[in-house]
Amino acid sequence: MAAWSRVNSSSPFFALHFIWVRKCTRVVRCIRLLAFDVSDARKFESEIIKIRRKIHAYPELSYKEYETSAFVARKLRALGMSVRTRVGGTGVVSLLKGAQRGNVVALRADMDALPVTENVNVPFKSTRPGVMHACGHDTHVAMLLGAAMLLSKRRNDLSGQVKFLFQPAEEAGGKGGAKLMIEDGAMNNPKVDYVFGLHISGTEPSNVFALRPGPLMAAPDTFRIRIIGKGGHGSAPHEAVDPIFAAAQVVTALQGVTSRLVDQREPLVVSVCSIHSGTKDNIIPDEARLEGTIRTFNEKTRSQAKKYVRQVAESVSKAFKARAEVEFKPDEYPVTVNDPTVTRRVVSILRKIHGTRTIESKQVMGAEDFSRFLQKAPGAFYFLGTLNPSKGCVNTNHSSEFKVDEDVLKYGSLSLANLAYEFGKTN
Ligand SMILES: [Zn+2]
Ligand SMILES: [Zn+2]
Repeated sequence: MAAWSRVNSSSPFFALHFIWVRKCTRVVRCIRLLAFDVSDARKFESEIIKIRRKIHAYPELSYKEYETSAFVARKLRALGMSVRTRVGGTGVVSLLKGAQRGNVVALRADMDALPVTENVNVPFKSTRPGVMHACGHDTHVAMLLGAAMLLSKRRNDLSGQVKFLFQPAEEAGGKGGAKLMIEDGAMNNPKVDYVFGLHISGTEPSNVFALRPGPLMAAPDTFRIRIIGKGGHGSAPHEAVDPIFAAAQVVTALQGVTSRLVDQREPLVVSVCSIHSGTKDNIIPDEARLEGTIRTFNEKTRSQAKKYVRQVAESVSKAFKARAEVEFKPDEYPVTVNDPTVTRRVVSILRKIHGTRTIESKQVMGAEDFSRFLQKAPGAFYFLGTLNPSKGCVNTNHSSEFKVDEDVLKYGSLSLANLAYEFGKTN
């Protein structure tokens, strides 16, 4: 304002200046501000951190999130929201009704910890040996409760309804909490129009949101191969059928699935991560057992990879007179696919959060059962970085030394609250 008032109306530059001012006003009008900004989030920041620390100190493993879900339910009730507990086990679903008509937007946080002994010296270190919030799900619960605090204050100008999904057992694999909650009706009554999930990430820098349209995280398939031979003396392998030799050939040949049998343009990982056989140096055992994982980004590659893993294991074993029995774990979850149109809108909302940056994420070979929610409603899954060497936050999720930069948590709450607010509108 001061700079503008210095322009003299008789100046030959006045007309030009006036046009510039009008253009600026138009630009300012175009940049719509978000419903919640950093100053709103700061009011709840200490409470969000306090919640996170409490959950961090008392971590609970998959399917056993009893104290965590009771704590979540208490917090939600204190905000005046309706709460349904024991959804799909220890899950909690809460509904916040806005004063205006609109869409139903679901926000999800997973609640379970990992069987890891914490190696970080913080005052709120895990009090339970062998159990730690090493994937950061404690932060997800805290950030989603923070979003509930923000949204419940704006009920009167909120459109639609916000459904809060606090999910158990994300780390449990295919039969994890998302499936159980969906089977227990979490995405219906009222039916969810959009669904969003946020994951804290030890590989992205602090204050950075990362996401991408389309396939974001892989589908994980677990295989077990039992190679059956015929035991004998180590000095006379020709009289036995050596399952260890066959297993070694199978491990090597399986790499041909990725390099020779499936289209090279499709991301695919086949890893054998466990191999067990034998008891003594001069005994050829009866069998060998292998276990491994396949990661893919589309259903076609996924079914091809599974078919070829079976084919290679069976044929290679047969070539050495052994027999392979191949099993895939049932109910593995699908690829996490972000809806492209929704993701574009999410990016435009996240980019308006001051103090943060939004970047395009690479595809991640890890997997998430949030993929199941995305099969029920369009939406997006996104990451919030916590990598910050100046605070010693340098280890990745699942590490016993995973340490979170708590200053980013307010941005997580802010992002979830703004997504719910914006996507709740029908126009
Ligand atoms: Zn995890
Ligand atoms: Zn996780």
